[in-house]
Amino acid sequence: MDYKAPLSQIMLTLNHAAGLQAGIASGVFSDLGDGLAEAVLEEAAKFGENVLAPINHAGDRTGAALADKVVTTAPGWRSAYQQWIDGGWNALTGPASHGGQGLPHLLNSACLEIWSAANMAFTLCPVLGMGAVEAVSAHGTDELKSIYLEKMVSGAWTGTMNLTEPQAGSDLALLRTRAERAGDGSYRIKGQKIFITYGEHDMAENIVHLVLARLPDAPAGTRGISLFLVPKFLVNADGSLGRRNDVFCSGLEEKMGIHASPTCTMIFGDQEGAIGWLIGEENRGLNCMFTMMNNARLATALQGVALADVATQKATHFAHERRQGRAPGDAGPGPAAIIRHPDVRRNLMIMRTMTGAARAICYLTAQALDHAHRAKDPQTRQEAGARAALLTPLAKAFSSDIGNEVTSLGVQVHGGMGFIEETGAAQYMRDARIVAIYEGTNGIQAIDLVQRKLGLANGATVAREIADMRATLALLGQRNTPGFGKTHERLTAAVDSFEQAAGWLHGALAAEPALALAGATPFLRLFGLARGGVSLAAMALAAANDAHEASATGDARFFAECLATAAPGLALSIMEGGTFALEPGFGGLQ
Ligand SMILES: Cc1cc2nc3c(=O)[nH]c(=O)nc-3n(C[C@H](O)[C@H](O)[C@H](O)COP(=O)(O)OP(=O)(O)OC[C@H]3O[C@@H](n4cnc5c(N)ncnc54)[C@H](O)[C@@H]3O)c2cc1C
Repeated sequence: MDYKAPLSQIMLTLNHAAGLQAGIASGVFSDLGDGLAEAVLEEAAKFGENVLAPINHAGDRTGAALADKVVTTAPGWRSAYQQWIDGGWNALTGPASHGGQGLPHLLNSACLEIWSAANMAFTLCPVLGMGAVEAVSAHGTDELKSIYLEKMVSGAWTGTMNLTEPQAGSDLALLRTRAERAGDGSYRIKGQKIFITYGEHDMAENIVHLVLARLPDAPAGTRGISLFLVPKFLVNADGSLGRRNDVFCSGLEEKMGIHASPTCTMIFGDQEGAIGWLIGEENRGLNCMFTMMNNARLATALQGVALADVATQKATHFAHERRQGRAPGDAGPGPAAIIRHPDVRRNLMIMRTMTGAARAICYLTAQALDHAHRAKDPQTRQEAGARAALLTPLAKAFSSDIGNEVTSLGVQVHGGMGFIEETGAAQYMRDARIVAIYEGTNGIQAIDLVQRKLGLANGATVAREIADMRATLALLGQRNTPGFGKTHERLTAAVDSFEQAAGWLHGALAAEPALALAGATPFLRLFGLARGGVSLAAMALAAANDAHEASATGDARFFAECLATAAPGLALSIMEGGTFALEPGFGGLQ
């Protein structure tokens, strides 16, 4: 089965879950009018289907290789990357001042979903480059921007994100990489970074590393971390490439998935010190890196949606082909296509609707990010920024969890063949595993949601989200056709449960933080079920009387009646089930 970008589903979500049409009308997305969004997506789909997807499975088998500090990417990668640059894809959201097209995150998010579904291991390279462009644009000096940005925006030079060290993963306060002032405005960086995605490769002529390090007089902890730009090749005054900088790849990880994405151990300053330049202010590097990480978090969320979607496509195709047993009500001897068995149908519906809900949440997040930058009214910008902050951990953790669950169900639908690599279902499951771990583990995302995001604007941000969901529910209540079944009741219960749990967590955070943190992961899932379910209902309402009506209504109904029903139970486990975190030795866990 060849990958086909789900363009009509993507457009439905963009228009009716993420407000693309409304944004075109109001002017926020005026640059996407006159069919531009559809045209770009069609071309992005061709690139994904014709260039990236055909090399995905071969890349998984071959992987990247390291010899003499040089990383060779999988067959076809270099040529695909050149086509990527030539097609201008890298520059989609880049700043117009440096050769970018300055298009909205919303459109880029839909494109990233398509490219990641076609070939996640490839797409990781440009994703990191786009994040680096954002960080340098937002925090770099004019000089750094004039030297680096144009090449980074075009994709001629790629970007990396260097946070992790052996002793410092989730806890960046433990960073040890050192930076010393060289006296000429530059710095000398020394240290080791691990797990650096595309830290070294052969697809571009230069690699721009963004590196977190500590100055000698830096305060301890996260307030003593600075961000540096460290190029693989130094750049001469005329913009040509100069000598090799003192940064090398010393090892490649052998991984469970994304084999074709080189995961590198990077040694900075083994000789004289890697030459780097400060981005932003000294000791404020984590703030600057967050610009890149937030971008990367949404991209990671989209990887979850992407793998879930392609796994669903493959499993649905297989379920039509594979014949086993008699389906209920069959008159003939069988065997029936397995898609006719209720249990297989349930799996396929879970796959399709969970993917749709996660997609809606991701696109909503992208829309909020765009409004935060593009809306004319300052208050709208400020509220949209807060909404993006609230939705980012939800998008990252919910969508990447869904990526894992749906790709696993994809293997299940294939039966024994799902376990056999030849089918390709297993690769999606292996590739999906990392999305719940990198860019901040999902546990840390849930903590971020509860500890920092619930209290944004004294709770006004989450209150606005609840009001937004209730507005859709009111519409659904008015137009409740029989096809929606119990959608309205079940989603109302899900939103009620979310509101109740949010209120309880607010109190618990002040009284007994361990109790609140114990409930963080189920709370994030509860939020995903409520927000995702309501967005599916909004899409179904908008699709009334058009070609999508039956599938959109069916999706909303299945999600509400079969999945969102978990919401009240999750609220109970949040509010009543946290004792295990309070009592040392609970259940014998020492
Ligand atoms: C394939 C791959 C690519 C990567 N790419 C990059 C990259 O390009 N750049 C980069 O800098 N890094 C990269 N990473 C690193 C990645 O971001 C980290 O692995 C991740 O942040 C988790 O850190 P850790 O592995 O040290 O796990 P740990 O921090 O040791 O966490 C272990 C477990 O403990 C939990 N935990 C930890 N702290 C807390 C806490 N305070 N509260 C509750 N639970 C907690 C975690 O949720 C997790 O379940 C990559 C990793 C991989 C495997």
